Amino acid sequence: MGNAVSSDVLLEQIFSITQNLYKEISNPDNDTEDDHNKIYRLLTDLGRTLVNADRASFWKWDKRNHSLWTTAAVGAGRITIPEGTGLVGKALTERRAIVTNDPYNNPDFNSDVDKKTGYVTKSILVMPISNCKGEFIGAYQAINKLDGEGFDLEEDVRRLSLAAFICGITLESDSFLDDSRHDKLTELKNRMGFYSDYTKIFEKILTDTEKDRCVSLFICDIDHFKKVNDTYGHNAGDAVLKHVAEHFRINSRICDGVYRWGGEEFIVVLPDTDITQAADAADRLRVCIMESVCHFEELDIKVTMSFGVTQLDMSKSIEDNIKDADEKLYKAKEGGRNRVIV
Ligand code: GH3
Ligand code: MG
Ligand code: MG
Repeated sequence: MGNAVSSDVLLEQIFSITQNLYKEISNPDNDTEDDHNKIYRLLTDLGRTLVNADRASFWKWDKRNHSLWTTAAVGAGRITIPEGTGLVGKALTERRAIVTNDPYNNPDFNSDVDKKTGYVTKSILVMPISNCKGEFIGAYQAINKLDGEGFDLEEDVRRLSLAAFICGITLESDSFLDDSRHDKLTELKNRMGFYSDYTKIFEKILTDTEKDRCVSLFICDIDHFKKVNDTYGHNAGDAVLKHVAEHFRINSRICDGVYRWGGEEFIVVLPDTDITQAADAADRLRVCIMESVCHFEELDIKVTMSFGVTQLDMSKSIEDNIKDADEKLYKAKEGGRNRVIV
């Protein structure tokens, strides 16, 4: 028991981490993803200290994308794995904490990271984290207990509960924020998501001092959509919106922003794309949607869309830039619909 920690030292460590945590949370500019990652790192540290583990990571269950991710593991960036995989996936699927003190003989343990880094995992504890409604939304993973023979399912889970409790609340508030930026029907980002991405990503590209970069966007609207609702009913209209959104998703690059602007109107933002390339992208999408068929119950429904394209002009506000694109969309409607106006 050479690495056992006395209660006084442990308490002092807990107080110091919780003090830093509170400082971080009460920081008024604490709005960027990076700041949230700092909070998660402190929470991970708290969990690691509570169970006296060598390493810990903290996983969020991204139910929208059916994946689990962590930023707290060694190395930079986010590690993402499919939901339901590994020991974290198992703990969440089975809604229970899992301890293994012989991971190499556990079929759910993935030894790839060890193979790559040379680290030897001897013991693992995974504890699912729930929100206030009892829904599991993430998990703690502690690796290599520093004292004793390994983790103890009962005692270490009891010790972790303080960190798990704070973590659950933090995760849930992150989920609320994420939900408020997405549209329930199409699962695309909504108007709030657009403004958030604009300040966090696109505005930064436009004001890049090292390189001359550009951003274009197009706004588009389903033609005669009211007729779809009137002819086939509102549920059919909803199915068409989902169908169209899926085409937007599969036809865009990872760096593009795709948003449901409202009703049957969408905005696509294209970084490092000039107006000519943006017009080409819009036209490809127009043809793709025109040629596609939405199958709903016994019906085959076809729609077309009109597009207005603009390259963002930094001397104007984002609202005025959108107004520009909107005026072109209006011209596309006036000109007979199913077309792109630049
Ligand atoms: P235009 O070609 O000029 O765009 O004609 P339009 O019929 O598409 O335009 P209009 O603005 O007259 O009608 C839009 C319709 O979209 C009216 C509204 O009920 C419908 N709509 C908006 N949101 C939803 C939704 O979430 N689901 C369904 N089913 N319909 C919606
Ligand atoms: Mg319309
Ligand atoms: Mg409209």
